[in-house]
Amino acid sequence: MNLSEHFTLDEATYSETAVRLGISNQPNEQQLENMKKAAAGLEQLRAVSGPLRINSWLRLPEVNVAVGGSKVSSHMDGWAIDVSSTKMTPIELCHKVEELGIKFDQMIHEFGRWMHISFAPEMRQQKLTIFKPEGKYKPGILTEAEYHAA
Ligand SMILES: [Zn+2]
Repeated sequence: MNLSEHFTLDEATYSETAVRLGISNQPNEQQLENMKKAAAGLEQLRAVSGPLRINSWLRLPEVNVAVGGSKVSSHMDGWAIDVSSTKMTPIELCHKVEELGIKFDQMIHEFGRWMHISFAPEMRQQKLTIFKPEGKYKPGILTEAEYHAA
């Protein structure tokens, strides 16, 4: 089943952790509805970036706990997507979202590895950069130079 033209339910629900724990990471009707809206948001980026790799999308609460996700993670509602690209760095993806004027709730450059983007419950256009290993945050999407100097 497709959530949108280029994103499938399979890739949005796949979780290595869920498989390992034997948890069926399948959405209910509301989560599925949310995921379709989030997919429509992500399609706006995909139209310019080309294929995107989904690192994590839906995480049912048990899965979210197991991966150490935030207690209020919007991955649990299907609103948030962790995404990367083989052609663009996470910072470039974030800057492309800004450039395209895509509406989002939160966009986070996480650990130099992927972009987290959520499309609800609000559209705060909140931007953050999070560093490893201690998970410290800075407001905004830092440039590559700022990120490596931080
Ligand atoms: Zn995320």
